[in-house]
This record gives sequence, structure tokens and C-alpha cells, in this order.
Amino acid sequence: MSDVATIDDNRGFEQVRFVLCDLDGVVWLRRTAIAGAPEAIERLRDSGRRVLFVTNNSMSTIADQERALAAIGVPAEGDVVTSAQAAAAVIAPLDRVVVCGGEGVIEAVENRGAVALRDGEAEAVIVGLHHDFDYWRMQAANAAIRGGARFIATNDDATFPTPDGPTPGAGSLVAAVATASGMAPLIAGKPHQPMAELVRQRCGPTFSNTTALMVGDRWSTDGLFAEALGCPYAMVRSGVTLSGQAITDANGIVAAHRVRLDVADLAAVANALVAH
Ligand SMILES: [Mg+2]
Repeated sequence: MSDVATIDDNRGFEQVRFVLCDLDGVVWLRRTAIAGAPEAIERLRDSGRRVLFVTNNSMSTIADQERALAAIGVPAEGDVVTSAQAAAAVIAPLDRVVVCGGEGVIEAVENRGAVALRDGEAEAVIVGLHHDFDYWRMQAANAAIRGGARFIATNDDATFPTPDGPTPGAGSLVAAVATASGMAPLIAGKPHQPMAELVRQRCGPTFSNTTALMVGDRWSTDGLFAEALGCPYAMVRSGVTLSGQAITDANGIVAAHRVRLDVADLAAVANALVAH
């Protein structure tokens, strides 16, 4: 596939100061670098742009994700933004929070100045993906929500792709807690507003809808997240959306003008942004 933009031209990209990259399917697959991605990130940074990694992975700590990026040659300290942080941003400091989620959520809650609990009375409940989810963790979340706690979900991805086929994502756990409690959650991660607000804050006052570009491999999270931010979207064909596959949503094929770039991979995005 050509690495040249298939739609529109590249005018306007010289204004882009912030490149917002999804991780899975854009930078790496199961933490193995996608060919050319580390070099593309380096080129984008050398051109004076800031690269932020915007992920719905709430389970891993920030240090763990930074280490994994460093291991593929991508220094990322301070540049990883997670759905756990977005969820923690909507709670108040000193809140008691029942965490029905992983280490990344506990870390984000504590960094917010709130108190992470496994069960008990609370002002908020945060549900995210974790591998030791069971009946009693569901009950702890249910009881706190029925006691008046706010119900917050890190993200609502029902599944995520693996070489063995789709496996349950946070959305599947969130659905169980929603069914038990009879309540709908506030969803923090991509493509929802708490994550958009957190990214705007991280970028600072020079952020605008013309100074940022979102790069992703899945329309339903990354494309809609670009629209939540009001910035253009670059689709890469290195993850869940394969080359030649139509980009669709619930209404059918997504209109071409909503996808600013449609290219093979992050290296092709760097080619479009950085003058050669
Ligand atoms: Mg992805």
C-alpha cells in the first residue's frame, strides 16, 4: 500500500505540534514494536513535535508502560496518558474509591490524592480490566454503588484482539457491574470526554484542533476520540483495521472527510508530517 495520503492533501500538517498515538496496533503489537514505529517517533520528535501515547490500558502502571516503550527504543517518560488517569481525574482528592481494576488504577487514584480500597463505603467505584475479577470484587463494586458511590469505568472496550482471538476487555467487566447495580457508568477513556480533557491539559495552552493529530488503528475508539478532541484523525493499517478494509461504524461506511490520513503505518504518518 502507498505511504502517500489517499485522501485530501497534507496542507495544514505543518501546524501539527502534538501527535497523539494509540499504542496497540500503532506503536506495538503485544509490546513488540511495529516495524518503523520507533524511528517514526524519533523523526516526529526531531521535527519539534511532542508525541503523546494515549492508551485505554488501565491495568499496567505508568512506569511499566514507560519501561516497555523504552525496551523498543522509545523513551516515553511523562508522555503516556492512560484511561486509569482519565478515570482518576473525575474523582476528588480525598475520595474513598473502590478499585475494581488493576495496578494502574490504584496508582492513578493514589496520585490523585484519593484513597484506593478493595471494598467498603466509598464516594466512587472505578471498574477497569484486571485478571482477578471475580464474584466478590463484583459484589464490592455493586455494594458501594448501591450505597451511593459514583460508578466510573476506565473504558468500555468489550474485547481486545489477541493472536488467540478477541479476549474480554474492560467493557465486559463494566457490563457485569452495570447489570448487578442497575446503574450506568461514566466512561473515562477513549473516545470519551474525560480522556479528551486530560489530553488537552497535558498538551497545554498551545493545544487546538489544528495543532494536534490523533493516530489510531480503530475507528470506534481512536477515530471518535479525534472527533471528541476536534482534531484530524490518521488511520493506520498496522493493527485491527486491515489494509483495504472499509472503515465502518454503526451507520455503515465512515465518510471519507472524517479520516484525514489513511496510510499503512506510523512511518507513513511521519512521512506525511515531516518534510523530506
Ligand atoms: Mg489500537
